[in-house]
Amino acid sequence: MSSAIYGIYGASGCGRGVMPLAREQLLRKGVPHDRLVFIDDACGAEVVNGQRVLSYEAFVTTDASERFVALAISNSAVRERLAARCAADDILFWSVSAGNVVVMDNVTFGEGAILSPFVTVTSNIRIGRHFHANLYSYVEHDCVIGDYVTFAPGVRCNGNVVIEDHAYVGSGAVIRQGSPHRPLVIGAGAVVGMGAVVTRDVPPGATVVGIPARLMNRG
Ligand code: UDP
Repeated sequence: MSSAIYGIYGASGCGRGVMPLAREQLLRKGVPHDRLVFIDDACGAEVVNGQRVLSYEAFVTTDASERFVALAISNSAVRERLAARCAADDILFWSVSAGNVVVMDNVTFGEGAILSPFVTVTSNIRIGRHFHANLYSYVEHDCVIGDYVTFAPGVRCNGNVVIEDHAYVGSGAVIRQGSPHRPLVIGAGAVVGMGAVVTRDVPPGATVVGIPARLMNRG
């Protein structure tokens, strides 16, 4: 009987950073090297960094007992679209995590999380589906994070913060801690610019930049 196959969807910058973590994780489980592939619909190469690249169609038709995908694409709207596509084909989602990630007590993740090296998630935290936490990001106590949220490298998300679906937090941003009765809220689809220091709630769909972070002037 054939064995399971594991895909990293996306063979560009994000996917190439995730693949080595996936390789190490599967090696620990004894999964053969050739059962881990990139999936990419427009890559043009057959092999990237030593790993086969399959189109989505080739991935779903490859002989396998089960198929697992991690969506390694930064754009959260693309992740959501591809998650629906995979789910319709009964593909399962797996989470990829660097060996040195620290996750403390009472943390729940939705499916498909990707945690890069040096990420720390402390205690009593709820995180939704297809979360990306890039290099050196942290999530502090009592945060609630929605689906398809993306942290670029070095995000410092302090305690009692709520981050709604599809928010994007840029590299090096700092989010001030909220309180148990009044969490700081980053609204759905909001964008926090790189290096911003967020001291107040960010409305859904807004972009904030600077120190302290302010709504970006769209003019
Ligand atoms: N991609 C894909 N199918 C899609 C959308 C994107 O295979 O429906 C691939 C695309 O070909 C590219 C990667 O996903 O190789 C996204 O790469 P990009 O450089 O845009 O972003 P990043 O790697 O930073 O997320």
